[in-house]
Amino acid sequence: MSSEKATAIVLRVIEFSETSSIVTLFTREFGKVRALAKGARRPKGPFESALDLLGLCRIVFLRKSSDALDLLTEAKLERRFRPPGGDLSNLYAAYYVAELLNELTDDYDPHPELFDAADQTVAALRNPGGVASLLLRFELTALRVLGHFPSLETCVECGKTVESVGRVSFSQIAGGVLCKQCRVGQKSVIAVSAGVLQTLARLADPGNESWRRLELDRRTYGELRAVLNHYWSHLLGHQPRMHRFLGSLVN
Ligand SMILES: [Zn+2]
Repeated sequence: MSSEKATAIVLRVIEFSETSSIVTLFTREFGKVRALAKGARRPKGPFESALDLLGLCRIVFLRKSSDALDLLTEAKLERRFRPPGGDLSNLYAAYYVAELLNELTDDYDPHPELFDAADQTVAALRNPGGVASLLLRFELTALRVLGHFPSLETCVECGKTVESVGRVSFSQIAGGVLCKQCRVGQKSVIAVSAGVLQTLARLADPGNESWRRLELDRRTYGELRAVLNHYWSHLLGHQPRMHRFLGSLVN
């Protein structure tokens, strides 16, 4: 059993006993960690209010070697997540970030770049505005970092460049666009407008910050959401719980 230190985002806190909780944390150093927090539910427990959903904290935990849960021994809150007053969009978006991190990552499989993207997204969601594009940027970064990014310019079957005009065939199963020849006979193919594919590419480009100035109209956002929602549902094997709340996000 070794004692480890990490920076963590709190993804989930569930009641374990009258006084203890089980917390799921996404750490920068170790990836996802699930730990027992003894005394967390006592009014003046050892963690005070550090174990707050989507809060950023510095933690110390004992890593168990067997299947037993790790044991959280210290948690110090660095930044609390509080959405701006009166707007549920930020709250839904942040819950969705937590849901994706929980579903997409495995225990002890670190992804520092994904951690940093989540940290920046959650921090930005404490302020009003830009929710829709912040969330899309996070989703596309997550897909890229985890190796699930769809092919947007070249045919996912044959590698030929697919001309980006009108509507382009996009395969959920193959994970990207298809040329006219490869489209034939394929299942789960949707027609996506070329403009939406270009917006996706711009939102995803790690070296380009111009996505921050992107103004999404309702129609484009609706189509982007539809493409990504289907893609996630296919990738995860089910529809994420928060999807139904994302349709009405405003930029
Ligand atoms: Zn092809």
